[in-house]
Amino acid sequence: MMKNVTFEEKMSSYMDAGFPILYINTFEETKAVKSILDVAGGRDVLEWNYADGLTMYKKGIATEEEKGNLSRTPIITVLEQLMTEGWLDLQGTILILRDIHYYFEQPEVIALLKNLVIKINNGMDTTIVLIAPVIKIPPELEKFITIMEIEYMGFSEIRQTIENFIETYGLPKVNGKLLDELAMAFKGLTKFEIDNLLALAYSNDGELTRSDLKVIFEQKKQMIMKSGILEMVNVTETVEDIGGLDNLKTWLTKKAKVIKNINAAEAFGVDVPKGVLIAGVPGCGKSLNAKAAASLFEVPLLRLDMGRLMGKYVGESEGNLRKAIALAEAIAPCVLWIDELEKAFAGINSNSGGGEVTTRLFGNFLTWMQEKSSPVFVVATANNIMALPPELMRKGRFDDIFYVGLPDKVERQKIFEIHISKRRKKDLISIDISKLVAKSNGYSGADIEGVIKDAIENVFADAKESLATDDVLSAMQNTHSLSEIMKKPLEEMNKEYQERKFKNASK
Ligand code: ADP
Repeated sequence: MMKNVTFEEKMSSYMDAGFPILYINTFEETKAVKSILDVAGGRDVLEWNYADGLTMYKKGIATEEEKGNLSRTPIITVLEQLMTEGWLDLQGTILILRDIHYYFEQPEVIALLKNLVIKINNGMDTTIVLIAPVIKIPPELEKFITIMEIEYMGFSEIRQTIENFIETYGLPKVNGKLLDELAMAFKGLTKFEIDNLLALAYSNDGELTRSDLKVIFEQKKQMIMKSGILEMVNVTETVEDIGGLDNLKTWLTKKAKVIKNINAAEAFGVDVPKGVLIAGVPGCGKSLNAKAAASLFEVPLLRLDMGRLMGKYVGESEGNLRKAIALAEAIAPCVLWIDELEKAFAGINSNSGGGEVTTRLFGNFLTWMQEKSSPVFVVATANNIMALPPELMRKGRFDDIFYVGLPDKVERQKIFEIHISKRRKKDLISIDISKLVAKSNGYSGADIEGVIKDAIENVFADAKESLATDDVLSAMQNTHSLSEIMKKPLEEMNKEYQERKFKNASK
């Protein structure tokens, strides 16, 4: 495998090239500081953070700074002092600022940073490094800042990391298959996290076993959650839990064959699947299909929260999207589920400031979809197709677009059966499903699930022994189905889908 430029090497070359501000976007702030100390060479390093104030490192060692008590000095004071001649000479130093993103609301902080940049641009040999777990860049500083993100390790690099760990600590060897599985499970984690998890796994019972995979998976979930944008969804649903939508299920099953044998498929000349857009009526199984896809493909399901992606600072939203994509690609093969796609791109092409960000974000997303060659399978779901920009639906973005409508008779029958069996399997044979089907025209899958839940609760509250047809029928009388509530929009949507010639998910 080709050796990539390491994070440290890249940082070092940026510093040598005189970039005034580097912005390291990471949760591992202490590790970032350590990397900076490693590349500092002969340079002194100053670090400010909220808890400790200013610390001076000489040759990598924290020193008692002679300039008096610098601990807990507020950032404004520090920046003002640094601008004062004869205080601390910044020439030839690296200035690390942590926690500073909390202070970007203060114009003084921005102005002082800008003054420092001017000095650097006028020849002062200093690099300012901002470290923060989020990307928050004030517009005034945008053009001086270079964002650096941690890069995730590839499969073989991770495998090597595990082997090195085993060798370094003289631990019992593990077989090749388990090694592969561990390396797969570690995807998306940093070297630091991997080392920690390995240490944890070994300290449990002195060896690495298959049972450690579970621990790794749990930890990984935590870590992904901390990113704040992606969520790793626990999937228990399979295609068996979906009533109807046979067309879509068959389509997904075919893709599963490709994804599960991606290397052979590619060698054969099959394109790597990109993903699917599933649009249509709320409560009719779109999310269910996203989950079923992950279980069919036997890969993790990552949910991207578009609402949380949007930030108010320049570059924040794009940075978040980049981060989400990088993480998904690191974890790949996986399903990336973009829920309520229309919410993210609703403001598109509008003239407001927000619209501009959305348009840019949308452009980035389209480009990624277009060029994507990694096995990140996107399942985008949308309730309102009318709000989606037409570019999204052009060829080359998604492999296909499906529309999910209200279930027909046969589908409703399946859905009733599924939800009754889930909760009261033994009552299923005595229930007259055809009666329920006849009375449930216009019900969504979620409506059906709702009446079954209500009916079962009522039966229990009334201390009856089992669920009967009449119990469900009376629960239905108290329900307003989706099509009653949204008759008009549903009709309009159906027309739109037919005009746009989307594939029907059902048949
Ligand atoms: P949406 O289309 O809004 O994403 P969901 O997939 O979240 O709808 O459906 C909500 C719930 O309704 C599901 O968790 C499931 O229990 C039930 N449901 C909807 N459609 C179906 C279906 N076709 N088969 C079985 N259950 C369904």
